[in-house]
Amino acid sequence: MTNIFDLTGKVALVTGARTGIGQGIAEGLAEAGCDIIGAGHAPMPETEKYIKALGRRFLFYDIDLVKQDKIQDLINETIKTFGRLDILVNNAGIIRREDVLDFSESNWDDVINMNLKSLFFLSQAAGRYMKEHGGGKIINIASMLSFQGGIRVVSYTASKSGVAGITKLMANELAKYNIQVNAIAPGYIDTNNTAALIADPKRSAEILSRIPADRWGRPEDLKGAAVFLASRASDYVNGHILAVDGGWLAR
Ligand code: NAP
Repeated sequence: MTNIFDLTGKVALVTGARTGIGQGIAEGLAEAGCDIIGAGHAPMPETEKYIKALGRRFLFYDIDLVKQDKIQDLINETIKTFGRLDILVNNAGIIRREDVLDFSESNWDDVINMNLKSLFFLSQAAGRYMKEHGGGKIINIASMLSFQGGIRVVSYTASKSGVAGITKLMANELAKYNIQVNAIAPGYIDTNNTAALIADPKRSAEILSRIPADRWGRPEDLKGAAVFLASRASDYVNGHILAVDGGWLAR
């Protein structure tokens, strides 16, 4: 029987695959059969070791995604090394916490540059390649703050609301080229990104009390959604934002 989720022979580029959600997704895609390019600003020995132990290939590409100057090189290097690009996961993201009335320009610019501008131009570069090569999958990492306002994270909320919009726009324009653009909106996942929340007993308890699943998420909780959106199982799914949130949005 053929496996509709099988990704054998596919090549996936995952940004921010050193830690957290990106690491979980890269490992999940490799478990389903992908070779992986991990793009980030520090080597990823743990991710590399796990993926190579599965018998898959792994390439680390050094890039600071606050800037856009190496984005085309990253796509070129992927094609040069692995001969193809099937899946792009725009996972790398940063957050800055500051009261809205004090929020600094640098905390605005860094977050928007990385979470929104680099995500778009990387998707554009990947989309151009995919259009010429029969299609592909672009998976953006959105957030609960693609739907809600949040507190003390105005540039992050702006960026993740923008990610939802870009996902839908690109899905509209690229569906006819057999490129499916979708997003995963993680709920509250225990990673470096949320370390400050977890360390604050009051905020941490407030958050946990409204998660129906009664636990914080873990990076591996995102594997299934990523494999689905990367596989032919989702060939007629376009512009969807799939919440993986233990029920947070349903509450
Ligand atoms: P994380 O562990 O901090 O992951 C962020 C990743 O982005 C890391 O691999 C990090 O690399 C990379 N990165 C940071 N700055 C970079 C730069 N300038 N250039 C290239 N890469 C850079 O946190 P996470 O929670 O897994 O976040 C992953 C994604 O999920 C983000 O888009 C985040 O907004 C989103 N998200 C997280 C949650 C949550 O609850 N955790 C919820 C919703 C959405 P280094 O580790 O090497 O710095």
